[in-house]
Amino acid sequence: MITAGQPTLQPVHPRAVAIAHDWRQAWRDAVRDPHELLELLGLESLAGNLSETSQFPLRVPRGFIKRMRHGDPNDPLLRQVLPLDDEDRIVPGFELDAVGDSEARRGGGVIHKYQGRALLIATGSCAVHCRYCFRRHYPYAEDTAAAAGWREAVAVIAGDPSLHEVILSGGDPLSLADHKLAELTDALRAIPHIRRLRIHTRLPVVLPERVDAGLLAWLRGLPWPVTVVLHANHANEFDAQVDAALAALRTAGAALLNQAVLLRGINDSVDALADLCERGFQAGVLPYYLHQLDRVTGAAHFEIDDARALALHAALASRLPGYLLPRLVREVAGAPGKTPLTAAVGSATTAG
Ligand SMILES: *Cc1c(COP(=O)(O)O)cnc(C)c1O
Ligand code: SF4
Repeated sequence: MITAGQPTLQPVHPRAVAIAHDWRQAWRDAVRDPHELLELLGLESLAGNLSETSQFPLRVPRGFIKRMRHGDPNDPLLRQVLPLDDEDRIVPGFELDAVGDSEARRGGGVIHKYQGRALLIATGSCAVHCRYCFRRHYPYAEDTAAAAGWREAVAVIAGDPSLHEVILSGGDPLSLADHKLAELTDALRAIPHIRRLRIHTRLPVVLPERVDAGLLAWLRGLPWPVTVVLHANHANEFDAQVDAALAALRTAGAALLNQAVLLRGINDSVDALADLCERGFQAGVLPYYLHQLDRVTGAAHFEIDDARALALHAALASRLPGYLLPRLVREVAGAPGKTPLTAAVGSATTAG
């Protein structure tokens, strides 16, 4: 067997190598038919529970499906991606723009909410569609930074010397081609007030093929310290291929952090959360944030109330070293940063 990225002395058909190396192939090959997914997992009996109204179609790479347990309707990876009819319920308090992004848009795909940091909606595409995603209703098509050739985004950042960190987000910024990423960072090089680059991505976890020679070469050539903030919610999302991709990112100089979302039925136990933090660290990743769910339409069935979230976090704190404890936060529209969940914040939110 020829493993992608491994040098070989064997004469190999050049096309075979090109295909093995091309992450786009794995991208295109993602499962998009919920019935096919159920069939692959021996769960055809769930067909009657599929969502009938979802505007946000299923999308899941085959490598991620391989990490799911066969025949288990409660598999924590499956639950993150399967559109169930729970999504069709209208629940008061769950809205389309749950985090106030619309108000913070600066044009050109730039969202500026917090001091010193500009977040770029680089693209609307993702390799996987997460059912709880707070951007599932975001009007991507109108306002992504890459679509406009980055020009407007770069102008916004260049024009504001208070911005020291550029965060590539989306969608998934690593769904863009290497040359497209380079186009942006080449333009950012000319801006003296940029000190850090950050990439918010789920791709190294859900499609580790993306971490290829081209991406690593781009990373190594960047003039700023780079942080990659990954997104994994359960220890089962890691496997040997993900570990290898993460090791390669670290070797290319990136600091690795993880943000997770607290999700009912997926990671809402002390064991699941501790396993996630420990398994991530084994792959060189430090926990960063544990997010309380954003109250976005269609995600109500994943919500954990604040009292329980706080209790889980306290139990986690008593079990893990401090450096493996994620900060439990929630996104509050208009706040100067992610808001730590405290008993006070909890009761205010419950009352509101
Ligand atoms: C979450 C977020 C950031 C990053 O916040 P950190 O606390 O620095 O991780 C920046 N901008 C926006 C708009 C965000 O939503
Ligand atoms: S990868 Fe991130 S942006 Fe894309 S659907 Fe999942 S949570 Fe949302």
